[in-house]
Amino acid sequence: MRSDVCVYAGSFDPITSGHLDIIERGAAIFPKMIVAILRNPSKKGAFSIEERLGMLRKSCAHVSNVTFDSFDGLLVDYMRKVDAGVILRGLRAVSDFESEFQMAQLNRQMNSDVETFFLMTSPKHAYLSSSAVREIASFGGDISEFVPAPIVAEVAIALRKEQ
Ligand code: ADP
Repeated sequence: MRSDVCVYAGSFDPITSGHLDIIERGAAIFPKMIVAILRNPSKKGAFSIEERLGMLRKSCAHVSNVTFDSFDGLLVDYMRKVDAGVILRGLRAVSDFESEFQMAQLNRQMNSDVETFFLMTSPKHAYLSSSAVREIASFGGDISEFVPAPIVAEVAIALRKEQ
């Protein structure tokens, strides 16, 4: 498995400024990054996979060594398929640690060739999540600090509830 290729997987429903920060910093470390949307059939997202991919592409147009994809099933199986040796994850608060620790251990047990690499969030994104963005946007709040500039209007219009 190639240790110069990392996969940053998540729901990205939608991509937030916190995700973009991890993508930019990860792409400065790894020669190649694949941002992969996990397709979860039992969880219908706010945005379709195609919409999420479109927003990822627009937000990351300035990052040249990143490609985009979606997958279902186990991340370790996807890693094998694309021949990538590193899982990139972002850590926000201590509360992320427990589940990330568990996931990293289980993934290692399933495929010992895969390493998980963590980047700490930048402090200004520490409390940011896609679900918080969805909540704020649904009530017409200003999300311009919370999602990348190229998608602010799109997210605000799509999620604003009829008043
Ligand atoms: P999921 O909720 O499906 O685990 P997300 O798309 O929310 O996936 O997140 C994917 C990855 O990005 C996870 O490693 C998560 O910890 C990280 N992440 C999410 N939000 C932030 C943020 N604000 N700062 C740093 N990392 C983040």
